[in-house]
Amino acid sequence: MEFTLTEEQRAVQELARDFARREIEPAAAELDREPDWKKRMPWALVEKASAVGLRQLPYPEEYGGGGADVLTCCLAGEELAVGDLGMAVNLDQTWKLAHILDHMAPQLKDHWLRRLCAEPRFLTAISITEPGVGSDHQGYYDDPSIAFYTRAERRNGRWAINGMKHYISNGPVASLYVVGARTDMSKKLRDGLTGFLVPRETAGLAVGKVHEKIGQRLSMNSELLFKDAEVNEENVILGAGKFWEIRGRLLACGKPEAAANCVGVGRAAFERALAHARERVQGGKPIAEHQAVAAMLADMAIGLDLARSFVWRCAWAVNHQKPYDFTLGWKAKIFASETAFNCARWGMEIFGGAGIMQEAPMEKLMRDASTFLHSDGTNQVLRLRTASAYAQGTVSAF
Ligand SMILES: Cc1cc2nc3c(=O)[nH]c(=O)nc-3n(C[C@H](O)[C@H](O)[C@H](O)COP(=O)(O)OP(=O)(O)OC[C@H]3O[C@@H](n4cnc5c(N)ncnc54)[C@H](O)[C@@H]3O)c2cc1C
Repeated sequence: MEFTLTEEQRAVQELARDFARREIEPAAAELDREPDWKKRMPWALVEKASAVGLRQLPYPEEYGGGGADVLTCCLAGEELAVGDLGMAVNLDQTWKLAHILDHMAPQLKDHWLRRLCAEPRFLTAISITEPGVGSDHQGYYDDPSIAFYTRAERRNGRWAINGMKHYISNGPVASLYVVGARTDMSKKLRDGLTGFLVPRETAGLAVGKVHEKIGQRLSMNSELLFKDAEVNEENVILGAGKFWEIRGRLLACGKPEAAANCVGVGRAAFERALAHARERVQGGKPIAEHQAVAAMLADMAIGLDLARSFVWRCAWAVNHQKPYDFTLGWKAKIFASETAFNCARWGMEIFGGAGIMQEAPMEKLMRDASTFLHSDGTNQVLRLRTASAYAQGTVSAF
């Protein structure tokens, strides 16, 4: 395993770092406070990210993408999240489709990739979660009684989707959705779910409530409502009943990218806390020189270094390890999100009273860092899946 980044990887990392400092950071705090989601949605930043190639980073170069692998996306994702987690998530969600291109019919792929790469506001969303099916689809079991409310049935050579989703990142702003729907109730969840590519303009697809979140506020989440939303057979990804395979690929590549976003938020907390601790004088010296504060800074640095190493190892394994050990992604996401949350908490303490003041940066970072404890699967459920994999012997301890 090689930890030395290539010249291209360094260039992407530098591009994203510069973009976060120059474009995202100056705009993020004010947008975060905007109550109206339509005004809060950072379209100007999305367009600028398109202009420099970050929005379409992992897509094939022949379509106008950057051809980046998972590790390179992790490098960019960490930098973007230092600027703002919500903005990083807007792009990260749009990168996910790149992981399942091999599963798409060639014509469909060609049509959508051209649009995705060319349209500066083109975002995508992955829609699985429903009010009745949250952790259950992320579960470590395959219970036949778990019934997705969202179902699809064949009608005159097309598929009609009915049901609803919620909490979907990019829900109200995406141009294209990957939708998991139940197509066979007689089979277990693993074999009865199908993945569809659903364009925004599909008749019968509507955006429901837009959720107001405490963190990641530059990323919009919403319900999606399907009422006889019809798509063509070719919009079925990989084949009927194959959603588990698609989901496997999405999760394998998506987990290190999500974990990289967490490292970025934690780093933002660390960098701000460190700067504050160097400047703020109490007890006759900068507080960084007080051992209690120094120990917190050290713990933040240790956690972040470990989390980043874990993300990189996981990103490497996605492309090289055969068979891929899925627990790596779950463990990396758990560790990185909890590290980010600890960094925000310790950063808050280092800021003293200013830690909870809205004029100081830490309260936003605390809100942002809390979001990944629950998204991309709750950490509790990911722990159970990890433990179950070891208990069943599908992965070995070393
Ligand atoms: C900011 C954000 C963005 C998201 N974006 C998306 C998205 O783009 N697409 C998408 O499809 N989903 C998305 N989600 C959903 C997310 O991935 C989670 O899987 C989902 O929120 C968890 O389901 P739930 O909220 O219904 O919690 P529940 O399943 O109700 O869980 C509640 C609690 O019970 C625990 N629990 C549940 N089941 C078990 C069990 N069997 N054993 C032990 N403990 C259990 C959980 O760990 C948790 O602590 C997003 C969520 C958030 C918060």
